[in-house]
Amino acid sequence: LHNQVQELKGNIRVFCRVRPSLKSEPASDLTLMQYPDEADDAKEINILGPEEKSSLGTVTRKNNTFSFDRVFSPSTQNAEVFDEISQLVQSALDGYNVCIFCYGQTGSGKTHTMSSADGMIPRAVHQIYETAQGLEEKGWRYTMAGNFVEVYNENLNDLLGNPDELDKKKHEIRHDMQRGKTTITDITTVNLDSPEMVESILKNADANRSVAATKANERSSRSHSVFILKLTGENHITGERSEGTLNLVDLAGSERLSHSGATGERLKETQNINRSLSSLGDVISALGQGKDGGHIPYRNSKLTYLLQFSLGGNSKTLMFVMVSPLQAHMSETLTSLKFATKVHNT
Ligand code: ADP
Ligand code: MG
Repeated sequence: LHNQVQELKGNIRVFCRVRPSLKSEPASDLTLMQYPDEADDAKEINILGPEEKSSLGTVTRKNNTFSFDRVFSPSTQNAEVFDEISQLVQSALDGYNVCIFCYGQTGSGKTHTMSSADGMIPRAVHQIYETAQGLEEKGWRYTMAGNFVEVYNENLNDLLGNPDELDKKKHEIRHDMQRGKTTITDITTVNLDSPEMVESILKNADANRSVAATKANERSSRSHSVFILKLTGENHITGERSEGTLNLVDLAGSERLSHSGATGERLKETQNINRSLSSLGDVISALGQGKDGGHIPYRNSKLTYLLQFSLGGNSKTLMFVMVSPLQAHMSETLTSLKFATKVHNT
């Protein structure tokens, strides 16, 4: 097949993206960040700590430098970000299982990057559609089946289903171990026979969540949403077949959710988010240490269980660590960057 990204196999790549400040955020509220290699393909970010005065009166700031596969500064647009993942997206057409995650605290730009009308989800669908059309003259016919699900409190919900059933209908994850295939029971599957359908899918999912919660934003920051695109290709000239999956995941907010003070429903949510984010880190670490085939703790959370066949084996993973430029968020920023460094170094 037309695959030039073979060398990425098994590697977990991490991209860092710093969002710009919004109109409501004055310059005095911003963290001092430096991008030491101001190149087109910057890979480092330095977060400067607060000013510290020594006994001799000299003022210093602590450097907190982090390296990733790419660092996108605040002026970067979604189009440039997509350029950097387009090959990875493409490899789902070649039969790979691809996972792309957005990790970061609430307000750091995950949804803007992933699920907005201008984000990676619609861009990926448009590109896949175009490429598939180009492959038609070589004999390839592709079908694209889409699901959009949410993991909320360790329950799986159908974001494309009937809003009245959102928290009521039970969906089971079924793995076919032999064929490496995952199905979800009673889930709505949309055949994307035109790329424009993705816009209505995103709207539908939003509407679904707003019905469920008084504050849709709050719910989406406390749940993981997973856009799943199954790409099945058949070549009627050569008889070849290809089956790949693209998973685009907008994770729940990673902010340190302390258990203190939280009670009831909130406490349960908090524990579930903490557990699933740390499970994701554990699974990625275990895979990175070459334990594929050995014990990987997929079953520790619904999210990793759902993505089991897209994280190990014949798969490629990329994580965006999203960062807010605000001073008030600096400690969360450092925590996120440390988590991402751990993921990057496995
Ligand atoms: P999250 O999903 O991580 O909670 P959002 O994507 O909702 O964060 O971003 C928070 C706010 O910042 C939103 O108003 C969003 O439009 C804005 N924003 C985020 N990233 C960017 C960006 N790269 N450029 C412009 N605005 C952004
Ligand atoms: Mg969001």
